[in-house]
Amino acid sequence: DKVYLNGEILPSEMAQVSVFDRGFIFGDGIYEAMAQINGAFFYEEAHLSRLEEGLAKIGIQYDVSRIPKEINRLLQATGLIGKDCFLYIQITRGVAPRQHSFPRDIDPTVFMYALPKVLPDINTIHAKVITSEDFRWSRCDIKMTSLLGNVMLNEEAMQHECFETVLCRNGVVTEASHCNVFFVKDNMVYTHPANEYILNGITRLVVIQLCGELGLELKEEAIGVDEIYQMDEAFLTGTSTQIASIQQINDHYYYTDSTVGPITQKLQRAFHRLKDN
Ligand code: PLP
Repeated sequence: DKVYLNGEILPSEMAQVSVFDRGFIFGDGIYEAMAQINGAFFYEEAHLSRLEEGLAKIGIQYDVSRIPKEINRLLQATGLIGKDCFLYIQITRGVAPRQHSFPRDIDPTVFMYALPKVLPDINTIHAKVITSEDFRWSRCDIKMTSLLGNVMLNEEAMQHECFETVLCRNGVVTEASHCNVFFVKDNMVYTHPANEYILNGITRLVVIQLCGELGLELKEEAIGVDEIYQMDEAFLTGTSTQIASIQQINDHYYYTDSTVGPITQKLQRAFHRLKDN
């Protein structure tokens, strides 16, 4: 299939990146992932703003306002204009002899691919998850391509035949390996505040907005590791995951069947209405 690389559209097997690309050597880059649903990218502006902010945080100069035109070229070439699909964007610092500090005057490497993908209408995931120590660095707000921590922590979940690993740092739940985490207790919705210990997910922001619209009370406050089993409901959010109910965490069951908690259900329905607009 065709991909986008540095202004060119070409078959993926022809797309070549230097072995001295800092993305390859250091994981020195930022990425973004978004879904086209019903003919438009879901919260495209929010995704592109996060990309722009990520690049600014690590000092890569690239004009993100050029991206929509380039996405359009890629979608045209792959026959995905207006079709439900998943888009991946990656911008690395570029190619230079290996040295840790930022090389001056190099061009970033810009790579994108799109794949047809239809997200389920109503969430059918009843996730089993485990908890683990969040041993990642303390700039998790940066959506960087160096995902070794996330990859290792997600693999732990796979080893346990689970969907996700819920991460704990300093006695509180931060997020999961590729999702944000929410809890509900006594009709109050909780999620970790958007600081340097989590990635501020776009789906997380949409859920926060929906809580406001639905009149649900929400606190951006972390849940203690010792409080996890006392929660009434728990769910994961992410671009592909959307809003997924957590059925089981470690040996604790929120539900022994495929029940979805009332507040999780309300949010899922509102989320799907939003996508249909
Ligand atoms: N947290 C992490 C660590 C992630 O990698 C992701 C998405 O990939 C998310 C949260 C969810 O973010 P979004 O809702 O923007 O997809």
